[in-house]
Amino acid sequence: MTKLSNSLAAADIAHSLHPYTNARAHERNGPIIMARGAGVHVYDSEGKEYIEGLAGLWSVAVGFSEPRLAEAAARQMAELPFYHTFAGKANEPAIRLAEKLVEMTPDPLTRVFFTNSGSEANDTVVKLVWFMMNAQGRPKKKKFLSRHKGYHGITVASGSLTGLPVNHRDFDLPAIPVVHLTCPHHWRFGHPGESEAAFTARLLREAEETILAEDPDTIAAFIGEPVMGAGGVIVPPEGYWEGIEALCRRYDILIVADEVINGFGRLGTTFGCERMGFTPDILVTSKQLTSSYMPLAAVVMTEAIYDVIADHSDKLGTLGHGFTASGHPVATAVGLENLKIIEERDLVGNAARLAPSFQNGLRAFADLPLVGEVRGMGLIAAIELVADKATKRSFDPLGRVGARAAAFAAEEGLICRALGDTLALCPPLIVTDADIARIIARMGRAITRTGDWAK
Ligand code: PLP
Repeated sequence: MTKLSNSLAAADIAHSLHPYTNARAHERNGPIIMARGAGVHVYDSEGKEYIEGLAGLWSVAVGFSEPRLAEAAARQMAELPFYHTFAGKANEPAIRLAEKLVEMTPDPLTRVFFTNSGSEANDTVVKLVWFMMNAQGRPKKKKFLSRHKGYHGITVASGSLTGLPVNHRDFDLPAIPVVHLTCPHHWRFGHPGESEAAFTARLLREAEETILAEDPDTIAAFIGEPVMGAGGVIVPPEGYWEGIEALCRRYDILIVADEVINGFGRLGTTFGCERMGFTPDILVTSKQLTSSYMPLAAVVMTEAIYDVIADHSDKLGTLGHGFTASGHPVATAVGLENLKIIEERDLVGNAARLAPSFQNGLRAFADLPLVGEVRGMGLIAAIELVADKATKRSFDPLGRVGARAAAFAAEEGLICRALGDTLALCPPLIVTDADIARIIARMGRAITRTGDWAK
């Protein structure tokens, strides 16, 4: 086993370039090679067991060993392993999944376009919105509003929508017209003494002033995650989304809910927009759509948007957009089975039921000297570590302490994600009370060890 993993590690170091990895540090440290998964656990090539506290990449809702998904994939592989959806071709799983998504998403959403990834889905949103504006004779109405710390992917357009410096720096992004607004994180961006309500009012004023300064006739859409994930798990304050929705309606700006992390139960409701109290014109979903067993994402839009696009495709002779694997039969068959499991086992209800013990358990760490803030909602949470609790001063360099804490957590048998010095948790939706208790205990030990190490 050791020899095999050693040779695998050497081969990885020799031949791979890893996403979101310091390549030189990786050459020194080597990979953690995951060999198998079972339920909420994964096992590395040395046989060490971890609770996957981030559900892989915020995505493996049904856990790591669901035989029904393997069977659904195998059945579809045997029946029709691939067919495309170009030029009017269709396949049953893609049709059924689109129908299911229309049934599950909020009422005004009626039409589905499939892509392989969340990034491609958000690129598709940008292109379809531009196509729509051109079709309507509004060629100036092209800008997107997004937020600092929002995460919408990494392709040229979706990476431009993302509001994280690491995704822009030296990649020549943003490369499309996008304006990033203040991140709705009261603890970090509220002024001293500013109440949450005053903070919300300030952000909504800023949004309106930006819209007016840019000219509403140039702004096509507002995109946001109902609760931000990769930016550090940020739950916007009460009234924020309602205010954004009202502004968008006033100035004829489309609302895009990026539900790639929130969708299918993460916040204890089927979609995050339901929990946050707004209705989007376009909803983007991926990750928990297939529990990441297959790459798949979906853009779900209103009939009004569809109608403009449909008419324009009629005028031009086609819709000149689509991926080889749009509506891939194996991916959509797995998605369909995965959504059935989420419904049958009431995993959305499970998230809602376990949210209080998960959130309250983690909030018990808020008093530790190293902990600046514990935040979250449903089954997604984060613990932000700071150098100085009173001033909220971050560690310098940012990320070193977070990486150490994540390494301690892994030693304790818990995988979490260090986003700078913020430790994110987003466990599979199948977690039990006992799993939650284990996650909290292991996280507690990791933070205590980090505190000792940082002294
Ligand atoms: N949107 C959100 C909210 C995400 O969290 C992610 C990925 O983490 C994406 C989009 C991009 O998805 P992908 O990595 O599949 O391209």
